[in-house]
Amino acid sequence: MAKLIDGKVISAAVKAEVAAETEELKKQGITPGLAVIIVGEDPASKVYVANKEKACQQMGFASFKYALPAETTQEELLELVKKLNEDPAVHGILCQLPLPRHLDEESVINTIVPEKDVDAFHPQNVGKIMIGNYDFLPCTPAGVMEMLKYENIDVNGKECVVIGRSNIVGKPMAMLLLHKNGTVTICHSRTKDLAEVCRRADILVAAVGRANFVTADMVKEGAVVIDVGINRLENGKLCGDVNFAEVEPKASYITPVPGGVGPMTIATLMKNTLTAAKKQNNL
Ligand code: NDP
Repeated sequence: MAKLIDGKVISAAVKAEVAAETEELKKQGITPGLAVIIVGEDPASKVYVANKEKACQQMGFASFKYALPAETTQEELLELVKKLNEDPAVHGILCQLPLPRHLDEESVINTIVPEKDVDAFHPQNVGKIMIGNYDFLPCTPAGVMEMLKYENIDVNGKECVVIGRSNIVGKPMAMLLLHKNGTVTICHSRTKDLAEVCRRADILVAAVGRANFVTADMVKEGAVVIDVGINRLENGKLCGDVNFAEVEPKASYITPVPGGVGPMTIATLMKNTLTAAKKQNNL
């Protein structure tokens, strides 16, 4: 039976550290501020944004929410980002993705100044992650690394397989595992004999976006299984990319969905906002 890696407990520990440091920072007259932009009415995005606002309040941050209508133009959106770039009360800016189809996500990401890019999506921050000398950690992969650290799971020399190669999760996840000396394989929709590749993994990370995609035959006995996926089933319930019931008996450690990687992503976002506030005040 696998040990459950509890994202709620670990994220609470991270957030407690951030809140304590924020309290000290506020004594110096600095209140970390996070601006969150949401465009349109995507229900999942609304939930994520509400969770981020709630976390900001818990941390003692200032939170600025900009809920824009779905018909917002590219110019209007970029104008807002530029205004926030200049606002000294705002230390972190994030634009909730996906955006409505008529808007260009890449130009929005490129317009956020790298110092305030707390999602670490700007090419300058992505490049720094690649080099291994970064200011901001990519939120979800960094959350996964924090979970491994908390559980004393050593990555050094381990076979790590990441399913998914998105810029948000898969690629930076692979990079962080590599920085910790894992031997990393990245899989995607064109990978041949995926199950065979996955069975090599000591640490298997699923970031596919398909419910119950990882089945027991894809998992080595005793593997650490990290489920990044968040999928909503027809009955409204959330479910990961890993078939938990099948895989859990084979794994040594496993993350649940919900209550696994999700809370860690938000905790890292809070950490990044604090880092941004300190850096912008030369601390
Ligand atoms: P993307 O859709 O951008 O990427 C999915 C990846 O999975 C792609 O690289 C794709 O390959 C690969 N893939 C799809 N089908 C297969 C297949 N049959 N075999 C092998 N690989 C496949 O998703 P994201 O990376 O943005 O997100 C992944 C999941 O993580 C989603 O469920 C998302 O909701 C969740 N998520 C969770 C977060 C959290 O905080 N827990 C944060 C961010 C995301 P290809 O490139 O070839 O198309």
